[in-house]
Amino acid sequence: MRAAAATPRPSGALRYRCPVNGSLVLVTDDETLAGLDRLRARLRCIDCGEMHLLTQEAEIDDATASRNHRRRSLEA
Ligand SMILES: [Zn+2]
Repeated sequence: MRAAAATPRPSGALRYRCPVNGSLVLVTDDETLAGLDRLRARLRCIDCGEMHLLTQEAEIDDATASRNHRRRSLEA
């Protein structure tokens, strides 16, 4: 099973890049997202049909926060 790094979206959805064919996949289905509420979860890829291990790094939140902070600074 291949691992894929998932990035949370502001809308509550989750985005990852399929490790098989490189496509960006956006997960918006509530039922699927409910099973992905931890840092590592298995998901059947809707793009290639294989199982992937989705990993969510805690540091992504920090990166998002600093990006938002920079954006605010630019607007000021
Ligand atoms: Zn895939």
